[in-house]
Amino acid sequence: MSKRPSKMDTRLAHAGREPKRFHGFVNPPIYRGSTVLFPSVECLEANDQEFTYGRLGTPTVRALEEAIAELEGGHATLLTPSGLSAIAATLFALLSAGDHALVSDSVYRPTRRFCDHVLKRLGVETTYYDPLVGAGIKDLIRGNTKVVFAESPGSQSFEVQDVPAIASAAHAAGALVVLDNTWATPLYFKSFAHGADVSIQAATKYIVGHADAMLGAITAAKAAWPAIARTHEDFGLCVGPEDAYLGLRGLRSLGVRLERHQASGLELASWLQRRPEVARVLHPALPSDPGHALWKRDFTGSSGLFAIVLKPVSHQAVAAMLDGLELFGMGYSWGGFESLILPFDPSAYRTATTWPEQGPALRLHVGLEDVDDLKADLEAGFARLAVTA
Ligand SMILES: *Cc1c(COP(=O)(O)O)cnc(C)c1O
Repeated sequence: MSKRPSKMDTRLAHAGREPKRFHGFVNPPIYRGSTVLFPSVECLEANDQEFTYGRLGTPTVRALEEAIAELEGGHATLLTPSGLSAIAATLFALLSAGDHALVSDSVYRPTRRFCDHVLKRLGVETTYYDPLVGAGIKDLIRGNTKVVFAESPGSQSFEVQDVPAIASAAHAAGALVVLDNTWATPLYFKSFAHGADVSIQAATKYIVGHADAMLGAITAAKAAWPAIARTHEDFGLCVGPEDAYLGLRGLRSLGVRLERHQASGLELASWLQRRPEVARVLHPALPSDPGHALWKRDFTGSSGLFAIVLKPVSHQAVAAMLDGLELFGMGYSWGGFESLILPFDPSAYRTATTWPEQGPALRLHVGLEDVDDLKADLEAGFARLAVTA
């Protein structure tokens, strides 16, 4: 058998593991530490050992970084304390005063805030683009455009982006493509095979998978790596040993968890499509979704996060529906074992596109519960909605 098996489920079980190094124990220990001793002046001066200081990595952290790098298919990975810090460090690393960034209008809102506040203060201009722009991105690229930032499908609104078309236009102009790949995870979308130069995971979501830690991961191709590694070190970004361990632990079951999130998510999405209260379901794996063809071309699966738009009803009716839910919790984040639901309104912050929907929008994360129980919870919610509407 070859040393690096190609099947994802096998890689998930073995990536980043070296039991021989740890007396045969299957998992690496949780290394706590700042100081790492050097055996000699010669070694110290040459900085010639694998680990040199706690902030710069431990065997626990390195194990998760190596596993994610292998799964994403990039040159190497660095962990950060959150998904947002992975995005912030990447943009900071790749952009300087006088540069221009193109950012999808559908990005995670805190990414947008980083561009509008921090990048602006640094003298970097951001232009938001229609996530459906595809090859048309070339008309927006300027002489000083250094980064095109994509997120596919988009946060909340789930537009699928033509990443290969965007990447070829960006590369022709010498710009790098950064992709927030949190929704699909490295299992369902191959960032580097589709032209991205940097792939970001909010590992807080599906990789940790149990809503019990915050973690980010930056995986880069060789060209983007030196700038990212420099910034990561300059900002002193490092993660706690337990959090890295929880990331490793979550990663091992990512494949089976995602299969269930996918199946239950699709079943609920189709069921919701048939509900009279629902105007639209935004889920790219549904054949009726406008992004379905691109999703089918580029992705190998779908996760448990999608959105619905209700037919116009009062705010009070939506509150009655959501307040009484017993299984769907209301709260930020997603990717854990539990189902979540959140109202949202993209019209409040979009600038390059207009949100066309009239009714209230809800984002659902379908967890690992029994899907019939989840339907029953939503069905009771729709009954409350009807009474209050
Ligand atoms: C949650 C999220 C992030 C940020 O991750 P944190 O760990 O919460 O900082 C980034 N991108 C997307 C798409 C997310 O959903």
